[in-house]
Amino acid sequence: MTLSNRLAHLVTQTQTIRVLHESQALRTDQHFDYGNGFHGTVWIDPHQIFRRPHLVIRLLNDMIDHAIPASVLEKTQVVAGPERGGAKIGLMLATMIDGRQNAIHEQVQFVEIQEDPDERGKLILPPSCQKIVEGKRVLLADDVRNTGWTFYQSSLALLEAGATLLGTAEWYDRMNLQAAYELVNLPNYALAEYDDGIVIMPANQCNLCLLGHTVTRF
Ligand SMILES: [Zn+2]
Repeated sequence: MTLSNRLAHLVTQTQTIRVLHESQALRTDQHFDYGNGFHGTVWIDPHQIFRRPHLVIRLLNDMIDHAIPASVLEKTQVVAGPERGGAKIGLMLATMIDGRQNAIHEQVQFVEIQEDPDERGKLILPPSCQKIVEGKRVLLADDVRNTGWTFYQSSLALLEAGATLLGTAEWYDRMNLQAAYELVNLPNYALAEYDDGIVIMPANQCNLCLLGHTVTRF
């Protein structure tokens, strides 16, 4: 990445954080239970963004222009997104990548990673989508990367179906490496990161719980 590209990415990151703050999608003032065994001080509510489609378009354009390398976009044959936020973003991202390709380029497809109807919390690729990704280069997209667990499970489902994974991409990465599940060694393309004073702790070792701070659950 050249210096000017890096600067452009930094400016975009700063603007993205501002957009997230202004739309009240980014909250940094409470004690949150993420529902996955971890507690922390930062919460992203993507629904605040989904209610404002002009912001969705803006963030996706910025993702394509500044976060995901052109070489990756060119290779993308399928975009996969986990339900629900990731599926919204994935479908739009596939549409926008497709719209920017020239007419002779192979059309980009989209698949949704879904929750296993037989096992709550487990993510699977529906059987009807397995043929679509088999032997294809797949970009995995989501709104927010928290601990990396959703990406991890989605990756396994796609690899099992015979996909080649190009990487993971999200609007916002609040990944805390201590809390992170090991990914299958994929490059990650975040539009913005927010690590300014973020604390993410396993729920059973949470300092805020010890101090008696009220927990916000969703
Ligand atoms: Zn706590």
